[in-house]
Amino acid sequence: MTLLGKIRGMQLHTQILLALILGAVLGPLLGDIALAIKPVGDAFINLLVMIVVPLVMASLIVGTASLGDLRKLGRIGMKTVGFYLVATALAVALGLVAAETLNPGVGLDEEVKASMLADYAGVTAEQLERVTEKPSILDLLVRIIPRNPFRAMAETNFLQIIFFAILFGISLTLIAEERRRPVLDFLNGVNDAMIVLVKLVMRVAPYGVFALIAAVAAQFGYGVLLTLLKYVLVAVGAMAVFTVTFYPICLRLSGMSPLFFLKKYYEVFVFAFSTSSSNATLPLNLQVSEEELGVSTEVASFVLPLGATVNMNGTAIYQGVSTVFIAQVFGIDLGAMDLLTIVLTATLASIGAAGVPGIGMVTLTIVLSQLGIPLEGIALVVGVERILDMSRTAVNVTGDTVCAIWVAKTEGELDMPAEGAVPAT
Ligand code: ASP
Repeated sequence: MTLLGKIRGMQLHTQILLALILGAVLGPLLGDIALAIKPVGDAFINLLVMIVVPLVMASLIVGTASLGDLRKLGRIGMKTVGFYLVATALAVALGLVAAETLNPGVGLDEEVKASMLADYAGVTAEQLERVTEKPSILDLLVRIIPRNPFRAMAETNFLQIIFFAILFGISLTLIAEERRRPVLDFLNGVNDAMIVLVKLVMRVAPYGVFALIAAVAAQFGYGVLLTLLKYVLVAVGAMAVFTVTFYPICLRLSGMSPLFFLKKYYEVFVFAFSTSSSNATLPLNLQVSEEELGVSTEVASFVLPLGATVNMNGTAIYQGVSTVFIAQVFGIDLGAMDLLTIVLTATLASIGAAGVPGIGMVTLTIVLSQLGIPLEGIALVVGVERILDMSRTAVNVTGDTVCAIWVAKTEGELDMPAEGAVPAT
């Protein structure tokens, strides 16, 4: 069999992993060619994102409506939001502890610092323009209510879409069965069609992933990475610690073996890493959570779309580490009150952040300005943003699924294969 034939014969997730590794290795060697094929990766992301609005809409409405009674919805809603809040706050705290003990920002060369601030000033200004105002929490709550749900969909405002979809789903449960049925049948059809579309799009995933990763590797070079090595290591290290402690504990509490989870889930993990987008990963996540991990459709289609926007554990860790890092570089001392403020604002900032590439860095400005740390500090982290974005997205998405498994377990709606159960000790 030829090499190409062998690759074709591999399972899709092995192909995706291979594409990721090849992209990272070949990207810097290919240089301009890698940059030239980047549109292949962009097209792939567009294809996936195209599916997300109808999918979130249909799956959340069906998910909410099929929970049946409002009491069950309230219970699942509370569990989901409770899990997300606790996980996110723990994540920020871990980021803070890691950065405060390992001090990634202490001793950064003055010259390096000055040249970074100068180099990235342009990029930063452009990024910062996106955060023109800082609304209060009350404002944010009011803004979650869309005046026009179609506009919310057109503008992909996920918090608004979620708000409307949940209320729509609730209202459906309150109308007569003969009226509700056709609406649900229609939306179920939309849902199924979107899932089929995902499977079709996934066939080109290896090419898309290769193009995306090769371009990143070619573009960012390894120079900046070395200068900021300590910061990157602390951030990625804290995410790794969170991933191998918190999630396995939750999985075990849900009766699922973490190894089984890893085996079934790593495709989604690699995929989130390559695309840097929780939203783009949502369709695949729904499919794997239901078909491979045994989460009921009702729970998955409620918990996962919500999590893709609301639950960002990786982003929360990143916010904690980055805030301390920037403060240290600028020689700003953070007191206990400041640390508490970071936990609160970073939790809110990661809840408000949409699941799209790069947004965590934009919302980091909210935390910085809350503490009075100069926003130019973003210039120090922008060089390694992409690699951190990829890592935090993988952690974000995993958190959503672990929550779905836990909720499904506590609701008696986890139907996993026997091999997935935690072995009796
Ligand atoms: N890219 C991340 C996600 O989609 C969000 C972030 O920028 O932190 O989950």
